[in-house]
Amino acid sequence: MVDRVECKNEACSNMILLTTATDNNGLCMPCVREIARKEKAAFIKANRKEVNDFEGITDPVEIVKLIHKKRKYDPMVHWIPCSTPTEDVYASMNEEELARTTDYLLTLLDVDFSEKAMEIALCLTFFTEANLDSCLRYCIEYHLFHDPEVFKNSPSDVRDALIELVDIDSDNRNFILLALAWIGDDAVVNLFDQWRNSPPAWKNELYIPPEDYSQEAGWELGAKGKRRDLFFEKCVKLVKKEEQSPEDIIAISQRADQCPWCNLSLINLVELRSEYLSFYNLNELDKFQVSTCEVCTAYSSNVYGVYNKKGDTEWASDNIRPEYLPDDGDSWGRLPEDCLTASGFRSPYMACSPCLPTSFSQLGGLPTWVQGSAYPKCPKCKQSMMFIFQVDREDIEENSEGIYYAFICSDCRTTATTYQQT
Ligand SMILES: [Zn+2]
Ligand SMILES: [Zn+2]
Ligand SMILES: [Zn+2]
Repeated sequence: MVDRVECKNEACSNMILLTTATDNNGLCMPCVREIARKEKAAFIKANRKEVNDFEGITDPVEIVKLIHKKRKYDPMVHWIPCSTPTEDVYASMNEEELARTTDYLLTLLDVDFSEKAMEIALCLTFFTEANLDSCLRYCIEYHLFHDPEVFKNSPSDVRDALIELVDIDSDNRNFILLALAWIGDDAVVNLFDQWRNSPPAWKNELYIPPEDYSQEAGWELGAKGKRRDLFFEKCVKLVKKEEQSPEDIIAISQRADQCPWCNLSLINLVELRSEYLSFYNLNELDKFQVSTCEVCTAYSSNVYGVYNKKGDTEWASDNIRPEYLPDDGDSWGRLPEDCLTASGFRSPYMACSPCLPTSFSQLGGLPTWVQGSAYPKCPKCKQSMMFIFQVDREDIEENSEGIYYAFICSDCRTTATTYQQT
């Protein structure tokens, strides 16, 4: 029998060898390590340098360079972030400043094809009206296709080059198809329609039909070979609600009815009233609600709802119970109610990639797919449903992630929800 004593820390119940106790002043090793960790954290906090690169810099081009600058991690240095949100810095630039930023992007592309270059290209594409033609021609020349969203506003010569390349460049075909989907103009729509009618020879090398790449960019081929958008142009940015006040948009509210799968009370993921109804062609309704179970929708591919002429919503009878559901759903924390407030209109493309430095909760616009596009099919008419709303948990709860998405088929008065996280 070896002699053991209790750790000297009163909050700890570990029994330790006498030799350990002698060496460590009566403490067990986990307690010794915890004290050392706390001392180190306190030291860093007391001695860390605060560095503000942005102080005194007023030129937005220089500010953008600093925002995207890659800094070596140093625990003793705290880099103070730019006080203006990145999207606002970009939006503030005039034509001359945008041209200088584009020139800077070209020099970056020329030195090395870096993460920094692509971040700037994405911001210029979706936060500004910058002309990126020369950068896109450069990308074609050097086969830089890894961020296909940046091709969205390609001039026709870049588009035609991509159309030529898609048949011959099998290594980059996946990216080129996505780039074409983001361009999505008449020439691309016609090409995708041709592929649907007579598939290209390389079709079997893909996981999905080539024309279905369009969904990644928020559209699909309609019945007559026309482009059908899967999103609404009218896009409202939503931010965390600090003060409760009545609004015509309510993000997350508890309902009186229960989930037939887990018995938790259902929620309206979103409820719209008055002017918001007309933005989304729902004028005939008194209100519009997307109902779901916040737990089960995270385990199910889709949870559907149906609404009547007044806008009263019910759980859809077509809902298919997933094979696995957690049995402790009732112990989960519920999502905060009435948690978002409208913060102005923005471009529908503002949050179209999770790599964009912006916040993602919004009404309308394109969804921010974190795991690839997954537009639900309407159980009644089998058409892809239109995206209408998303809430990013990061915006409403601390230390959370994951996005809840809402969709509508107004022809069949059907709604759907889905959930993705990294
Ligand atoms: Zn201890
Ligand atoms: Zn449920
Ligand atoms: Zn339908």
